[in-house]
Amino acid sequence: MPSFDPERMFAARLARMTESPILAMARKRRELVAAGHDVIALNIGEPDFDTPDHIRAAAKRAIDAGHTHYPPVAGLAELRAAIARKLREENGLDYAPDEIVVTGGAKQALANAMFALLEKGDEVILPAPYWVAYRGLVELVGATAVIVPATIDDGWRVPPQRLAAAITEKSRLLILNTPGNPSGVVLKESELAAIAELVRAHPRLMVISDEIYEYILFDGARMHSIAALNGMRERVITVNGFSKGFAMTGWRLGYAAAARPLAAAIAKMQGAFTAGANSIAQHAAIAALEGPRDAVEDMVRTYAERRRFVMQRLRAIEGVRAVAPEGAFYVLADVSADGGEDDAALCDRLLAERHVALTPGGAFGAPGTVRISFAASRADLAEGLNRFAAGLAAS
Ligand code: PLP
Repeated sequence: MPSFDPERMFAARLARMTESPILAMARKRRELVAAGHDVIALNIGEPDFDTPDHIRAAAKRAIDAGHTHYPPVAGLAELRAAIARKLREENGLDYAPDEIVVTGGAKQALANAMFALLEKGDEVILPAPYWVAYRGLVELVGATAVIVPATIDDGWRVPPQRLAAAITEKSRLLILNTPGNPSGVVLKESELAAIAELVRAHPRLMVISDEIYEYILFDGARMHSIAALNGMRERVITVNGFSKGFAMTGWRLGYAAAARPLAAAIAKMQGAFTAGANSIAQHAAIAALEGPRDAVEDMVRTYAERRRFVMQRLRAIEGVRAVAPEGAFYVLADVSADGGEDDAALCDRLLAERHVALTPGGAFGAPGTVRISFAASRADLAEGLNRFAAGLAAS
């Protein structure tokens, strides 16, 4: 009898998926911590704050009130109405509640949208540096990622003419992320207008705009949503969520806003995958949107102080270049001046020898850089950056 080999049972798509380098670094760090080492984590992509009290209280009330049943697939009516209000008041976007789909994190909104829109062979334009999960999802659905890079000399901003040159007959989707992870770039209205003009010239091109870091802005940077621009409402899926702004990563709650036929397609996909987002978390999210924002403002102030500290420290490290982020809580440090060691090898060495965890920029389409997260305490940032500098000097 031939023996059973589970490896031979796997679908080809499993081999197409590589382990996220972000998650790989997190796993290696956990292994070192479990082995008793003092590891400074500057690789973390989540707020180092707990969810504000009034949001947690709303969740407790929801449990006690018995909101423990399946919610509607596209989300609770009250939450969709609150999101529609938020989009109108804060982003200048006009969506009805039935044009909003509440999802299990922004990531689920991205997955639903890509499964609903993309076929094998379709091209997805991905300005780099990009959040690595976009690429993973594109590969999972069998589409092709067309990477359009920016360098540190571009200030990590992809010039529109470079985007234009990447658009072909097969282009179906352009993925924007503002404020950007890992670049910290916040797209200006004029930049979005130039991109919108490109998109309007291609009738089969759509846009996903991931705005999950929208509240984390520095030095007067202003948030703009491309869906608000002329002719873009029907072409853009705006993705957002509660993880970053409200420190709610573990609640797994996000949403997509899009014109009715698209929203229905996204909801249909969600019905197949999960049948809807967690009911308790949805009640908490209503409190997040409708309640006081002091805690959000406090967090942003703290990120701003840390950003100042990190930039000051980085400027003093020889061989390192960095552009001050306008938003989100990361800075990309260019370490390519040293030549030789590639960013993944450098991060592995810094973790093993100096016990500081950073994320290699190659994962984001920015080779020769490392991503430093300042969602970490001031003490950890000071010590982590000392270790980073010492590790670089020893290379
Ligand atoms: N979009 C970007 C740009 C992110 O950096 C992240 C998380 O790191 C997400 C989306 C995921 O958000 P969520 O926790 O809502 O799935």
